[in-house]
Amino acid sequence: MSTTDAPRPAERSWWLEEALALPEFAGPVTPPLQEDTSADVVILGGGYTGLWTAWFLKERRPDLDVVLLEADICGGGPSGRNGGFCDGWWEKIRDIRETFGDADAMELLMTCGRAPTEIGTWCRANGVDAWFRHGGDLAVATNEKHEGAWEGALEDARALGVEDEYQLLSAGEVQQRCASPRFGSGVLIADAATVHPARLARGLRRLLLESGVRIFEHTTVTRLGMGRPVVAETPDGTVRAGDAVIGLGAWATWWKAFRPRLTLRGSYMVITAPAPDRLEELGWTGGEAVRDLRSSIHYLRTTPDGRIAFGLGGLQPNLARRIDQRYDYEPRYARRVANDLYRMFPSFEGVPIEAAWGGPINVSGFTMPFFGTLGRGSVHYGLGYTGNGVGPSHLAGKILAALALHVEDGFTRLAVVTRKPKRFPPEPIRSPGAFVVNAAIRRKDDREDAGRRVGALTRAIARLPRRLGYHLGPR
Ligand SMILES: Cc1cc2nc3c(=O)[nH]c(=O)nc-3n(C[C@H](O)[C@H](O)[C@H](O)COP(=O)(O)OP(=O)(O)OC[C@H]3O[C@@H](n4cnc5c(N)ncnc54)[C@H](O)[C@@H]3O)c2cc1C
Repeated sequence: MSTTDAPRPAERSWWLEEALALPEFAGPVTPPLQEDTSADVVILGGGYTGLWTAWFLKERRPDLDVVLLEADICGGGPSGRNGGFCDGWWEKIRDIRETFGDADAMELLMTCGRAPTEIGTWCRANGVDAWFRHGGDLAVATNEKHEGAWEGALEDARALGVEDEYQLLSAGEVQQRCASPRFGSGVLIADAATVHPARLARGLRRLLLESGVRIFEHTTVTRLGMGRPVVAETPDGTVRAGDAVIGLGAWATWWKAFRPRLTLRGSYMVITAPAPDRLEELGWTGGEAVRDLRSSIHYLRTTPDGRIAFGLGGLQPNLARRIDQRYDYEPRYARRVANDLYRMFPSFEGVPIEAAWGGPINVSGFTMPFFGTLGRGSVHYGLGYTGNGVGPSHLAGKILAALALHVEDGFTRLAVVTRKPKRFPPEPIRSPGAFVVNAAIRRKDDREDAGRRVGALTRAIARLPRRLGYHLGPR
C-alpha cells in the first residue's frame, strides 16, 4: 500500500501529545521569566542536555540555585520528539576508534555504555513511567550491499576485547525477532533500550521542579553575556549567574561560536494506530529497536500498546542555514516515511498512520557530541549528538555538571571534552555543498535498497565527507 495523503501533523510530536494529556507529565504551568534574577547556574535549553545537567547539579549540590530557561516547553524540541532509541555508542565503534584511538575509545564506549541501564534505574527509582524497555538494538541489512557491513565494526570490537557486546543473527534469526520481507541478516547490541521520549523529558522536568530548580518556559534567551557573572538576557528579564550551560541542540547552529563545528539535518517520524495482533504476527514482541544500515537511516520501534513508530534520518528540508517550520513537519517527508513503513511491513496495510512530525538534528564532524568551556571559563556547552542523544545526554549531564562546578574528574577528562570535531567548510560552499552531498547519499541508499545500480558520480559525491576527513556518510 502506498499513501498519497500526508499524515496528520502532530502538535510537536505524538509522544508529547500523549504525555501532556496526563497530569503527571503535563505538570504545573511555569510562567515565562518576567523579572531580573540571579542564580548559581543558568541553563539554556530544556531538552535532555539541560534537564540532565540540572539533575546532576542538584545531585552533587542540593543547595545550588539553578535556573533553566526554555524557549518552548521542556522537551518541546527533539528531546520530546525522537525515536526513543536509548543507546550507548557501541554502534559507532569504528568511528570512535578511528577518531580517538584505542584507549580513549574504550573509555568512551564503557562510560556511555552505562547510560541505558542508568536511565532505566533512574526511571524506576523516581517513579517515572517512561516505557523503558531493555530490548536491544537490532541493525539489519535491507539490501545485498549491507550484508556483512558490520564486519569492520566487529574487527574493532575484537581488537578492543568487547566483541561480546555484539551478537550476529542469521536472516532466519532476524525474521524470528521481526519479520519483514525487506530484512536480511543482522547484528544485535543487547545493551540498548527504548523509552517514551516525551515522558522521559517531562518526568525529568517534574522532578527538577520538586527539587527546587526554577524553570521558565516560553522564555527565549536572546543574548548571553559571557563575563563574570554571565548574564542571560530574555525579552522580559535577565538572569545573572556564576556559570551558564548551553544545551541548545540544533539551535546552537545560530551561535557564531558553534557554527563552524555544527551543521543541521532533519529527521522525520510517523506512528501507526495500535495493532498488537499484527505485531504478534511479525514476532516483533521483544521490544527491539530496529534500524537499517543506510546512512539516511530508517529507525523503528514498537510501543506497549502495539504501535510502530518509524523514522527516517538524513533529510534536509532547506539549505540548512536556519530552522524553520519544515523541520517540524514537511508533507512530502511525512508521506515518504509512511510509505517506507508500509513497504517494510506490508501486513500493516490498512493500519492508519495517526500522526507525523519531525525535528532538527545537530551534526558534528565526528558524529559524537563535543563539550567545552567558553568565555572566561564560565560558559559550558554540550552539542553535536548527530541523531544519537537519548543515552549520551545522560552522560552529558554528568560532564556539564562537573564543568559548571569547576570539578575536574573522569567525566571532564573524557576525549569528547578535550577534542573538538573538524570544522565544516565556510559559506558559501557549505550549505549548497551539504545539500548536494545529502541528496547523493539518499539516492545511493534508495537505489541500493531497490537493488539498482548506483552511478559512479553519485557514489563519489556520497563518499565526499569521508574523503574530507569527516566521520559522516558511507565509507
Ligand atoms: C525526529 C528525531 C528522532 C530522533 N531519534 C533519536 C533516537 O531514537 N535516539 C537518540 O538517541 N536520539 C534521537 N534523536 C536525537 C535526540 O533527540 C537529540 O540528540 C537530543 O534530544 C538532544 O537533546 P538536547 O537537550 O541537546 O537538545 P534539544 O532537545 O534540541 O533541546 C534544546 C532546547 O533548546 C531550546 N531553545 C532553542 N533556542 C533557545 C533559546 N534561544 N533560549 C532558550 N531555549 C532555547 C529548544 O526549544 C529546545 O527545547 C532524534 C531527533 C529527532 C529530531
